[in-house]
Amino acid sequence: DNLLTVTGLRKVYDSSTGSVEAIGDITFRMDAGELVCIVGPSGCGKTTLLKCISGLLKPTSGSVELRGRPVTSPPPNMALVFQEYGRSLYPWLTVRGNVELPLKHKYPSRSERGRLVEDALRAVGLDHAAASYPWQLSGGMQQRVAIARAVAYQPEVLIMDEPFAAVDAQTRADLEDLVRALHRERGMSILFVTHDIDESVYLGERVVVLSKSPTWVQEDVHVDLPDD
Ligand code: ADP
Ligand code: ADP
Repeated sequence: DNLLTVTGLRKVYDSSTGSVEAIGDITFRMDAGELVCIVGPSGCGKTTLLKCISGLLKPTSGSVELRGRPVTSPPPNMALVFQEYGRSLYPWLTVRGNVELPLKHKYPSRSERGRLVEDALRAVGLDHAAASYPWQLSGGMQQRVAIARAVAYQPEVLIMDEPFAAVDAQTRADLEDLVRALHRERGMSILFVTHDIDESVYLGERVVVLSKSPTWVQEDVHVDLPDD
């Protein structure tokens, strides 16, 4: 069941000081229900790749298709979670309000939104904190709010860009297990980007490796996960 197809994607940034080929000729595909990791060192073009996939940036050449439709505007049915969770939450809204906000256009029914929000907060273990404000929560809890918001939205694909780079090791392990649970128990399709090889192997059913030297390398590595 083909979900995402990235074909020959290339992005060159032009500036007064010259041009930089941030990504060159990336091709991979992802099926619905898969958890795919993209791993590579800083500067290898991960952020550029994600911006192209989510339609925020126009590639120099190549294409991105979500369920066979080209990803251009209007925004595709995707949800994004970034490293900077604090900045993505509205401090004047409660946890419940933050999770509900993006649903307003997609789900006009207030009762349906309420149901989706409660369900998402339960899924990330935050049902007890629905009435709190983001600044009352730890960094790890704030990142759970950002994840709940994505879960409630029910995107075709959840894109996570180094989401746990800024939290401590124990919190990170807990959040990684949460991502695995969302994938295994809810069948969410997740594209997870990290510079951490260990994290990519722990999480990903498939790992796409990006590397910058000596030339562009892209390998599709199949990883057998141990059963829980
Ligand atoms: P990563 O996310 O893996 O760190 P990036 O996609 O941010 O990689 O960057 C890849 C390369 O493209 C780097 O050399 C970076 O300096 C360059 N780059 C990224 N964004 C721009 C931009 N807006 N203009 C020029 N160069 C850029
Ligand atoms: P990250 O490391 O998280 O990918 P950066 O701090 O490298 O982000 O980049 C922040 C912003 O600056 C991004 O929007 C990126 O596209 C842009 N950028 C990165 N490198 C360059 C560059 N060499 N020239 C211009 N813009 C850049």
